Parts: sequence; structure tokens; C-alpha cells
Amino acid sequence: MPNTDHTQFMQFQPYPLDTGEEYMNAAQREHFRKILLAWKRDLMEEVDSTITHLKEEASNFADPSDRASQEEEFSLELRTRDRERKLIRKIDEAIDSIDDDDYGFCEACGVEIGIRRLEARPTATLCIDCKTLAEIKEKQIGR
Ligand SMILES: [Zn+2]
Repeated sequence: MPNTDHTQFMQFQPYPLDTGEEYMNAAQREHFRKILLAWKRDLMEEVDSTITHLKEEASNFADPSDRASQEEEFSLELRTRDRERKLIRKIDEAIDSIDDDDYGFCEACGVEIGIRRLEARPTATLCIDCKTLAEIKEKQIGR
């Protein structure tokens, strides 16, 4: 199962960094819009095929001995679908922020998140420092 949280499985040309152009100019915004839209399309197809698969599986429910393992598989797939749905929502939010010219800047401290970090994680809303900090805080609250 691919890890859908990042785009390493996707094929795209990394944006050239040595052009000296302004961060998040129109060309760069377009670059990320394309990545986000392609990613979203992949995820939607993934969700569709999960639903189809679940329907097919459901019709094979005749044998009770298979039931437990199938139910386990079902709940796993439903969790995957739920994650995908949440991710699609995040992608939509990222596309909105491109439209609003907010994309690519840390929402906590305002610095540039960076082209390469965004290419690896196009839905990132925090710079690496704020993200690290947030994760540490999350862990402390979680315990
Ligand atoms: Zn930050």
C-alpha cells in the first residue's frame, strides 16, 4: 500500500531552483497547482477502486468462516478511505491557498516553507522548524 501522505510515488519535474526568481511567483504557483490537482485525481481514483473492491467483496460474504478476516480487511480499507478523504480535503485547502496567494508560507511564523519541502509534501502549512515544534508539543499532550 503506498503511503499517500507524500508525493514520492508521483512523477513530476522538480522546479528549477537556480532561476533567482521570486518565491511563489505565478509559474511556481502553477507548478504546485498541477501537482496538487494530479495528486487529488490519483486519490479520487484510489477511493473509487476501494469502493468497487468493497462492493465486490461484500457479495462474497456467503462463507461464514471467511467473515472475520473479511471484516478485518473491510475496516482496514475503510480507514484507508477515511485517510484519503481527509487528505483530499487538505489538498483542496492547499489549492484554495494558492488562489488566495497564501500558499507556501508557514502559517505559524510566516517564513517560506521552501520549494523542495512543498514538492515532497504539497499540503505542508508549516515550515520545518514549526512542524518539528508542533510534533514535540503534540507528543507531550498525547502522553
Ligand atoms: Zn514556521
